[in-house]
Amino acid sequence: MKPTSKFDIKAEYKRLHRTFPGYKATPIIGLTNGNPSISQAIMKAGGAPIILPPHHQADWLVNQVNLLDGIFLVDDRPLERLLTKLAEDRQIPTVQTNPAMLEVYAEILVLEATSFMEAKQLHNRILTLDSHCDTPMFFDQDINFASRDPKILVDLHKMTEGRLDATIMVAYLEQQGLTDEDLLAATAKADRILNEIEAMVAKSKNHVNIAYTPADLYRLKAEGKKAIMLGIENGYAIGKDITNVERFRKRGVVYLTLCHNGNNQLCGSCRDNDENLGVNAFGEQVIHEMNRVGMIVDISHSGIQTFYDALDISTKPIVASHSSSRALCNHPRNLTDEQMKALAQKGGVAQVTLYNGFLKEEGKATIQDAIAHLNHMVDVMGIEHVGIGTDFDGDGGIIGCASASELINFTRCLLKERYSEEDIRRIWGGNFLRVMEEVQNIS
Ligand SMILES: [Zn+2]
Repeated sequence: MKPTSKFDIKAEYKRLHRTFPGYKATPIIGLTNGNPSISQAIMKAGGAPIILPPHHQADWLVNQVNLLDGIFLVDDRPLERLLTKLAEDRQIPTVQTNPAMLEVYAEILVLEATSFMEAKQLHNRILTLDSHCDTPMFFDQDINFASRDPKILVDLHKMTEGRLDATIMVAYLEQQGLTDEDLLAATAKADRILNEIEAMVAKSKNHVNIAYTPADLYRLKAEGKKAIMLGIENGYAIGKDITNVERFRKRGVVYLTLCHNGNNQLCGSCRDNDENLGVNAFGEQVIHEMNRVGMIVDISHSGIQTFYDALDISTKPIVASHSSSRALCNHPRNLTDEQMKALAQKGGVAQVTLYNGFLKEEGKATIQDAIAHLNHMVDVMGIEHVGIGTDFDGDGGIIGCASASELINFTRCLLKERYSEEDIRRIWGGNFLRVMEEVQNIS
């Protein structure tokens, strides 16, 4: 439906910027009621009020609401109910109040809106990369990446709302048998999934592209597009044929986890590996080949011996694309302090993951638990060796960071913890891309 009045939120936004000299530090608060005492309370609290148009302009409002840093809901009409839903999807702080509490609620809202605004502005200046998502696991459920699809946690809308620029989407292979036939089937399946990711991206090529290098990511961000990088989760995909490493690299795969939950033809896993098997002779060849062709060695899911073997064998830094801290949550998928120190010594990175079972041994994990893991990893390894790999659509997702649309909350928490902008840039992919750059530089 077309707007029926001349109200234009962008013009209004510009007007506010002129009215408030310190506008860049002034959150824009949408009001659903023109009562002047409400506008005054918002201004007194340090916000810039915009009175939102009535409900019959709802469709139009959906496209404009992203400019708001906060919403003050006064009445309970269809407009407020629509805005509540829009705000929820976009993590826009809202307050619903009654006139008696006007000033207090205005202050609370402006405080929240300021934090939200600062996080959004920061995301405009830095590149944000999630190093691990498993969305292809839902490809057989007829998902639509270009729409807001409730079946998946990462799609174009959610990436936009969470201000996530890029994600590494993996072709995941469940560990099965190791006969020649099984291994050929594993390689074929990895290729099939990579084809499907490419087809999905091609459908929305005006909004998202595949990125092959860190430089591609920065270029796509400058073009206003989202980026997908390709990964493979499980060295099972290599089969018995070493030439598959270079072939996968040539089609864009940036990293390969050596294994998944179960030993494979390369190495021992962190699961079902009582003998603590490490990297075998073929695995060693594969790691050398990955170094040669510029593919990152990923030790998430590896057993302890595999971890140390891989560190020894690889001539390049290695990563844990989605693993948290074992000192805080005793799960074999997590890294001990000793492992983290060894990883960092070799220039690698560990990416905190948002999977409940790796953050908390009992009960539901929240964003605060993830921050506690990250803080510990920074304490052990230093700020140059950490990052975020959500594991969204592979069972990742916690309270406060339940999908890509909520990732802006992670930055709000980092700001609250007083991480500097440079620190946050490193956490949000700067460190991971440093490793990628080093590994890809194969000349
Ligand atoms: Zn995984």
